Amino acid sequence: MSTEHQTDTPMVEIRNVHKRFGDLEVLKGIDLTVNRGKIVSIIGPSGSGKSTLLRSVNHLEVIDQGEILLDGVRVNRPDMNGLIFERHINHIRQNMGMVFQHFNLFPHLSTIDNVTLGPRKLKGMDKHIARELGMELLDRVGLAEKAAVFPNHLSGGQKQRVAIARALAMQPKVMLFDEATSALDPELVEEVNRVMRGLAEEHMTMLIVTHEMTFARDVSDWAMFMDEGVVVEECTPEKLFSNPDQERTCHFLRKHL
Ligand code: ADP
Ligand code: MG
Repeated sequence: MSTEHQTDTPMVEIRNVHKRFGDLEVLKGIDLTVNRGKIVSIIGPSGSGKSTLLRSVNHLEVIDQGEILLDGVRVNRPDMNGLIFERHINHIRQNMGMVFQHFNLFPHLSTIDNVTLGPRKLKGMDKHIARELGMELLDRVGLAEKAAVFPNHLSGGQKQRVAIARALAMQPKVMLFDEATSALDPELVEEVNRVMRGLAEEHMTMLIVTHEMTFARDVSDWAMFMDEGVVVEECTPEKLFSNPDQERTCHFLRKHL
């Protein structure tokens, strides 16, 4: 029986995930559960494995051990190969929206075409319906008037908001954010954070890697501190940011709060 509609199934489950690059073990047995409609923030020093973990969730990195489940469906399937795996992973990826530090918009496509490309090409959505959906999403990120504009005429904050609209256009079950605001000028950060807060209010499930401690504290239901490929501690953001148990967490926060 499919588990897809059981509401108590975690949206994302990461179980004992290991990943190495050559001799370097970057993830050393990570466990994390993200429940439906919840927001989990991951913080930690540069090089601790945060991006590798997020990339592993949608199989941009192939893990060496452990398993990852999206809404009860296993993402990594070492038992599958070739075209069968490709079909499986494409289906999984349609359910995950990912937003990176660098926006990766298609420079030759207008804003609206960036947003509608996925639904049209991957879901076969009708052009007019895709456009309607795209305009709705651009409106939601405050950029309806930029529909016809090309990315090189947008500010960094606007580009990142288009990237979020583009990810949402696939109507994903979960959104993954990897330092979505860290390449932005400080005055542009808030407009992106505002969009992310809006998603939180709509109960979008989100896994957020961020270096913005105040934002993480405000928006998340759960917070995790990673260092050197291990989960040092995870708890409510209130506790993590004001009264962490581990010395390594205290040390990190002293430098970053
Ligand atoms: P973070 O996002 O926390 O800064 P990363 O996940 O990007 O950390 O990197 C964790 C470690 O893995 C770093 O030491 C980094 O140099 C290394 N690493 C990341 N990607 C690769 C790769 N493709 N090949 C080799 N080493 C990598
Ligand atoms: Mg990173």
